Amino acid sequence: MTERFLDAAELESQGDAADVVIIGSGAAGATAARVLSERGLDVIVLEEGGHVPTAERRSDMYSAFKASWRDMGFQAARGRAFTPVLQGSCVGGTTVINGAIIHRLPEAIHHVWQTQYGLGAALPYRRLAEIFDQLDAELQVGTAPAEVFGENNRLLQLGVERLGMRGNAIRRNVADCDGSAHCNQGCPRARKQSMEVSFLPAAVSQGARVYARAKATRILSRGGHASGVRIHVHGDPKRRYDVVARRAVILAASAIQSPLLLSDSGVGRRSRLVGRRLQAHPGTGVVGVFDDPVDISSGATQGYESTHYWDERMKFEAVSMPLEFAAARLPSIGSALKRELSLFKHLAIWGVQVRAEAHGRVGRGLFGGKRIDYDLGDRDVETLKLGVLRLIELMFAAGAREVMPGVHGLPARISSLDDAAGLLGLSADPRRFHCIAAHLFGTAVMGPDPSSSVVGVDFQAHDLASLFVIDSSVFPTNLGVNPQHSICAVAWLASEQLADRLR
Ligand SMILES: Cc1cc2nc3c(=O)[nH]c(=O)nc-3n(C[C@H](O)[C@H](O)[C@H](O)COP(=O)(O)OP(=O)(O)OC[C@H]3O[C@@H](n4cnc5c(N)ncnc54)[C@H](O)[C@@H]3O)c2cc1C
Ligand code: SF4
Repeated sequence: MTERFLDAAELESQGDAADVVIIGSGAAGATAARVLSERGLDVIVLEEGGHVPTAERRSDMYSAFKASWRDMGFQAARGRAFTPVLQGSCVGGTTVINGAIIHRLPEAIHHVWQTQYGLGAALPYRRLAEIFDQLDAELQVGTAPAEVFGENNRLLQLGVERLGMRGNAIRRNVADCDGSAHCNQGCPRARKQSMEVSFLPAAVSQGARVYARAKATRILSRGGHASGVRIHVHGDPKRRYDVVARRAVILAASAIQSPLLLSDSGVGRRSRLVGRRLQAHPGTGVVGVFDDPVDISSGATQGYESTHYWDERMKFEAVSMPLEFAAARLPSIGSALKRELSLFKHLAIWGVQVRAEAHGRVGRGLFGGKRIDYDLGDRDVETLKLGVLRLIELMFAAGAREVMPGVHGLPARISSLDDAAGLLGLSADPRRFHCIAAHLFGTAVMGPDPSSSVVGVDFQAHDLASLFVIDSSVFPTNLGVNPQHSICAVAWLASEQLADRLR
């Protein structure tokens, strides 16, 4: 399938208009383009980031940060701790740089959405299950072949089995993985079925136009209806154009950027909830040193996981990465760091992510800049402490000779589980951990009541007809599992409902 995408500069010469204009080309936007173009609707996708053809992908993190990560990986939330908020910004969105982990929306979470948020009729689980089956087939979901599984994943499996926990090989949207461990840089061989090699080319072959470097700055309206999108060529605010939407505008710019665009466009003021209730799965990693080589620079980037303690709001995953990424997680500086880096081939890295209870906020700050506030509460920090303790236990169970817990208040290196005994007694301060947040939800929630939600149960903004928000901004809670598949499924459902409405 072709990867023929257009550039925003092409709007300059010829302009463009479509039945439906979609903002964002990630999990939600690409899925909408795939579904709506198949239903015969004329579709434009506007993407702020550039497009990196597969052949031009580089293996180093610096090139990846520059080409595909939002703010070069420096986007961060303020709170007591400084929390990097990681996202992609390129054609394909965050799916380009993600770990390819596939999970379905947990039924327990759906039950909460149904009973506490009134979304049962809007998001029928039976239809979602059918969509998940189709997504699995189209995105070639399966586990990594044994020959490319990798030692980092195998050791986590060993630890899980030795401790009698439940664990499993991760289901991934990858066809024929060759175990390069480069998922976070963008797959160098188009094996990962991220949106720029799957749903976006499918939409293009059905007539959709995808414009890279087209940054939406405002949703336009006429007569109480969304009527188009103002964009500028990314990096050049003077080159502005209006793209006409004949029937509808879809907002799928992510749980951080969608609320910003809503408030910049004056939409959602009634509920005062735009940008509020930001939820996440903050996570941190633990490093183990093994006698035998592990080599985290090869194997399936993320191939093994444990949801054994899901009810306690935590999930464990193996995560492989290149040396320059791993270096940021090592405790030392100077010659001690050199010694640690010389052990690189013997390091294993596993992470815990927490289904946090904290609510944060996204909005405009000083001089109109983006501001993200997010702070873990004491209960979340307690969950994180317990999660890290369990990771340390897993590392020793798998045979680590030394563990670097990465917790302020514990020794930088420990050689037995007993050395971590003080962890649970430490004060509940989020600054003790090096957390990141990569799964984001809830900043333009969906619901039947306009006073407590931003969009209705048909995904339409309560206060602007023909504007549909379909990404994880509309999720009322976080999930406790990796969200891409749920985001695709909800976007699919929203798009087929929209296609029926426009028929
Ligand atoms: C490092 C990392 C690893 C991850 N691993 C996994 C994983 O293994 N499994 C999983 O399920 N999830 C994973 N995730 C999360 C998952 O990829 C995201 O939750 C998902 O892609 C979000 O989908 P989305 O459509 O809401 O947003 P995105 O996929 O982020 O797409 C939004 C797009 O909109 C564009 N955009 C934003 N603002 C504008 C604008 N004003 N104008 C035009 N375009 C705009 C952005 O540039 C972006 O390309 C990971 C995330 C990260 C950061
Ligand atoms: S591990 Fe390598 S080959 Fe496999 S999906 Fe990830 S980037 Fe592609």
